Amino acid sequence: MAASTVRINLDGKPINPLTILMIGAGGFIGSHLCEKILQETPHKILALDVYSDKIKHLLEPDSLEWAGRIQFHRINIKHDSRLEGLIKMSDLTINLAAICTPADYNTRPLDTIYSNFIDALPVKYCSENAKRLIHFSTCEVYGKTIGSFLPKDSPLRQDPAYYVLKEDTSPCIFGSIEKQRWSYACAKQLIERLIYAEGAENGLEFTIVRPFNWIGPRMDFIPGIDGPSEGVPRVLACFSNALLRREQLKLVDGGESQRTFVYIKDAIEAVLLMIENPDRANGHIFNVGNPNNEVTVRQLAEMMTAVYANVSGEPALEEPTVDVSSKEFYGEGYDDSDKRIPDMTIINKQLGWNPKTSLWDLLDSTLTYQHKTYAEAVKKAISKPTTS
Ligand code: UDP
Repeated sequence: MAASTVRINLDGKPINPLTILMIGAGGFIGSHLCEKILQETPHKILALDVYSDKIKHLLEPDSLEWAGRIQFHRINIKHDSRLEGLIKMSDLTINLAAICTPADYNTRPLDTIYSNFIDALPVKYCSENAKRLIHFSTCEVYGKTIGSFLPKDSPLRQDPAYYVLKEDTSPCIFGSIEKQRWSYACAKQLIERLIYAEGAENGLEFTIVRPFNWIGPRMDFIPGIDGPSEGVPRVLACFSNALLRREQLKLVDGGESQRTFVYIKDAIEAVLLMIENPDRANGHIFNVGNPNNEVTVRQLAEMMTAVYANVSGEPALEEPTVDVSSKEFYGEGYDDSDKRIPDMTIINKQLGWNPKTSLWDLLDSTLTYQHKTYAEAVKKAISKPTTS
């Protein structure tokens, strides 16, 4: 975009160029948000992360249109005194830093709780320095639906009042303490409460985002290619990995859990609206998801298998899926959210945002990316003789 074009917000007011501190800019969401901001706005980004691989293409010097509008700081927020200074220099802090892969919640609960709660210094610094904060939480704070506790054949299970998740009325329902899966959700819930309290008692200007399964290119990693061989990423990357290797897709506990998936590029539009409309976004918690893209994990596996056959030109396996128990796949202490349908009333009313991309279309563009990016590397890795 021509940085000189005057941008207008939803209330018809001009948008002043901002300096945005993005903590966790090098991750999946951060990389897409940086791209969007650089391509479509005049805002500056102070990009903070311990990794920069996913934004490498945005950091190359000089030739790019946005040179000078993004600055990378390799900082671990746990122990770096520069953090507060960077917050003071910025108009807005966006905090994306988190451990957010379910495979870690029950196996590395301490890291999960520390990274998501104890290390959340940005909240304190934003509050003390009167700086605006957009904090990324998770739809997982809802935990399980009320409906999941009803008898299997109860007609009430069909009533949206028992499963649609609303920011201002739904309770947060987690399993017992030994189900360490909920360590993440619980840490995230507590930090939401801390931010809310900072708003109420100290006037912190905040927005909380609850992403509902955002997926797309650059999400997580492909084990053994750009991540550890034994690593377990989220479902999109697990299934992509299996498709690339022509292995069966593993369905945890029958693949009966339901999810709604939203395309990362749709979701990023919502975040940009929050950035540029503080009067409409401050003080709010927003679900960001696509209620129209609901599937069971089994249906997702079937759809990804069909899409990948189209994209790669290779026929699908005769039996593309296999059932595994959660204990076998994730280990002790795993538990699951049964169903996640976001209520969209608040984001619609405040920001007029709606998701656009169907599940089929978003899988088509994402698996095209996965195939282009990884197919060769996976073939090479498979053909290497294994050392005994
Ligand atoms: N899942 C699965 N096979 C896999 C990876 C995940 O069946 O190879 C299931 C998992 O048990 C959960 C759903 O897929 O029910 C979504 O998992 P994900 O890791 O993407 O994160 P979540 O939505 O639970 O936060």
